[in-house]
Amino acid sequence: MKPTSFDTKVVHYKQDQTEVQNSKRTPIYQTSAFTFKDLDHLESYYEGASPYLYSRERNPNTDELAGTVAELEGAPAGVATSSGMSAILAGILGTAKPGDHIIAAEDLYGGTHSLITKELATFGIEVTMLDFTDLEGVKAAIREETKLLYTESISNPFLRVENMERLAELAQSHGIRTMVDNTFATPYLLQPYSMGIDLIVHSGTKYIGGHSDATCGVLVGDADLIQAAAKKVVTLGANLSPFEAWLTQRGAKTLGLRMKKQSENAKQVAEALRKHKGIAKVFYPEYVSERGNGAIVTIELNESVDVHAFFRSLGWIKIAPTLAGVETTLSYPIRTSHRALSDAERLKIGVNDYVIRLSIGIEDSEDIITQLTHSVEQAL
Ligand code: PLP
Repeated sequence: MKPTSFDTKVVHYKQDQTEVQNSKRTPIYQTSAFTFKDLDHLESYYEGASPYLYSRERNPNTDELAGTVAELEGAPAGVATSSGMSAILAGILGTAKPGDHIIAAEDLYGGTHSLITKELATFGIEVTMLDFTDLEGVKAAIREETKLLYTESISNPFLRVENMERLAELAQSHGIRTMVDNTFATPYLLQPYSMGIDLIVHSGTKYIGGHSDATCGVLVGDADLIQAAAKKVVTLGANLSPFEAWLTQRGAKTLGLRMKKQSENAKQVAEALRKHKGIAKVFYPEYVSERGNGAIVTIELNESVDVHAFFRSLGWIKIAPTLAGVETTLSYPIRTSHRALSDAERLKIGVNDYVIRLSIGIEDSEDIITQLTHSVEQAL
């Protein structure tokens, strides 16, 4: 029967799907659930015949994004989540249960630092944070309950490049899993899975998306760990919206082009700023991969520079508490990403009033250098 009344027709009219097939881009499956033609069809979902039931559990757009990142990272499985933070939480909870212990690097993104030091205890997971340049110290801290070693491939904000092969070796020799935040490097520069790392996490909000218009996270790695993490995502309701997944997927198409240009620009900016008298230190990795060293440059201004005046003189460069967009932006870790840390914790990792993190964009490198050096001079 076909509906005849206005009120029924208005909610039931649907275009025949076959007419819109073969669209060049994957459509946005902006739907909270999927429908079934009869009870056998519904039952077939539970028997694994069709993948989709309810978007909190799975959705074609979030699957596509997770699949893309897994493919780029060379990992067998992936899951997309509502943010980088939820991807980190899901990855850890999928690996460690109450009573377990994890060891994390002490120089992590501030949000991750807070998650690990303040929240994991509420899940009954014990944490030790250590200097990961001292692998003997990490080894000494391993106990029977230790399940995971957690670090960043390039640390935030001082850009320490992790020795992932050695970390993976140490973990494997103790039957422990490893998880690495690869947000700053992206799979364009580093593929931790090929170095023996079990789980790789991204704030997709950053370079994977690249346009500062979506918040998302992606976790990829060993199938057993991804399956366990994906279950946590479903129960915690940490799923990604189809539209955000679609936007991030669109951004990801230019990841290689952006990382190439942004890394080249960042190298030039780091070299130019190293020569400037207003800048005490420039943190920029010497070597990340043959494709480049990344697009973040962290500087420590000289104490003779008025930091407030510097931030007021940025011209077309914006202050933003994020990174990795196509536009060059500056962030002030002590007031943003590392705000929640205690003074002692900040001091220990070196985040002081003069530390500024530059996220270099795709603009003309000379324009970026001219504007930044002018800004420092205005504040001397
Ligand atoms: N990991 C790193 C290295 C980050 O810089 C951030 C955010 O700045 C996160 C994770 C958290 O990601 P999100 O903001 O998407 O939750």
